[in-house]
Amino acid sequence: QWIYLNGDFVEKHEAKISVYDHGFLYGDGVFEGIRVYEGNVFRLQEHLDRLYNSAKSIMLSIPHSKEEMKQLVVQTLQKNQLSNAYIRLVISRGVGNLGLDPSSCARPQVIIIAEELALFPKELYESGLEIVTVATRRNRPDVLSPKVKSLNYLNNILVKIEASLAGVSEALMLNDQGYVAEGSADNVFIVKGTELLTPPGYVGALEGITRNAIIEFAKDLGYTVKEEPFTRHDVYVADEVFLTGTAAEVIAVVKVDGRVIGEGKPGKETKRLLEAFRERVVIEGEK
Ligand code: PLP
Repeated sequence: QWIYLNGDFVEKHEAKISVYDHGFLYGDGVFEGIRVYEGNVFRLQEHLDRLYNSAKSIMLSIPHSKEEMKQLVVQTLQKNQLSNAYIRLVISRGVGNLGLDPSSCARPQVIIIAEELALFPKELYESGLEIVTVATRRNRPDVLSPKVKSLNYLNNILVKIEASLAGVSEALMLNDQGYVAEGSADNVFIVKGTELLTPPGYVGALEGITRNAIIEFAKDLGYTVKEEPFTRHDVYVADEVFLTGTAAEVIAVVKVDGRVIGEGKPGKETKRLLEAFRERVVIEGEK
C-alpha cells in the first residue's frame, strides 16, 4: 500500500510524520473521507470544496490548487490499483515548535491514504442499528463551526465512547440547546410519512456530502425534505430513522434510547433511499 506524503509515494510502514506536527500535537488540521465507486471518486469536487473551506476557516493554506489535489487523489488510487476504495485526505498545519502558535509551522503536510473498502456487515443493513443519545454536546457554531471538518474530533470520540459504554455502536449528539445535531461521524434523518427531516447546519451538523446527495435523490423521488431542528422526542416518535455518511451510506436505526422506531426493523422509505443511493452513485460515475 502506497501513501501520498508531501510529494512522494511511500510504503505504508514508512509513511510517518514528526512528533512536532501540529496536527498530532493539537489536532490542528483538516481532513476528508471520500468514497470511490467502480473507479469513480464520488463527488470529489464537493469534498474538495468542503476541505478548502474548512482550511480557509482555520487560516490553513493548502499548498495545492483544487485541480492539483484532484490529480493527486487520482494518482494515489492508480498507484494502489484500487477501484472501490475509501480515501482519507489529511492536511495538517505541519511541523512547528511546542507552542500553539501555527506561525512556527513552516508548511502544511499533505497526506492521502487510499484503502480497500471495509464495508459494514450486510447484517447491519438488514437488522438496523440500535443507538442512544449521549451527554457529549456538539460544539457551538459560533465557537468553531461544525462545518469545519477539523482534525480535532474529541467530541466525536467521546460520543463513540459513550455509545460503547451503553453497549451500542453509534450515538446521537445534541447541540447545547438540546436539538439533535448528528452522529459521531454521520448525519441523521427522520421520516414522517413521505416527509424527511434532517437538522440544518446551524444546529450543529456537518453538511455531509452523503446527506446532501440523499436530500437531492429524495426530492427527485418525490419526498418532501426539510432542514429543520428537531428534538429527541421527534426521533422517538418518527416512522423511520436513518443515518448517512461516506462509509455507511444509508443505514437504518431501529431503536433509540430503548424506544423502538416504527416496527423495529428497517423501514420501507429507508430501504428505498438506500437502493436509490446505490443506483445513483454508479450512474453518476458513468456520466
Ligand atoms: N458528521 C460528521 C461529524 C462527520 O465526520 C461525517 C463524516 O465525514 C459526517 C457527518 C458525514 O459526512 P459525509 O456524508 O460527507 O461523509
